[in-house]
Amino acid sequence: MSVSCVGTCSNCGTKRFWLSDTLSLQLDDGELKCLPHPSESYHCQKYGLTLGQASDRGRPYRETFYVCRSCGRYGQTIQRQFAVDSTFFPCEVR
Ligand SMILES: [Zn+2]
Repeated sequence: MSVSCVGTCSNCGTKRFWLSDTLSLQLDDGELKCLPHPSESYHCQKYGLTLGQASDRGRPYRETFYVCRSCGRYGQTIQRQFAVDSTFFPCEVR
């Protein structure tokens, strides 16, 4: 998996850079709960699902936060995260 760390600002068109991204779990009521790195698995299980089970149900979302270097505009994207497995969690410790 290759992830670019740079995107384009929707406000001024210059390059912005990612500040961070986190994994979130969508609960039954639709609320997104952050799963802090590197203990995503532990936090996910607090909500009653393993990461594998959550992925099977399409529940994990990736939230990415960024700040534009030029205009200072900040933003956030939320994308459904597919195929959560061990390759996404190199720091997972069980
Ligand atoms: Zn900008």
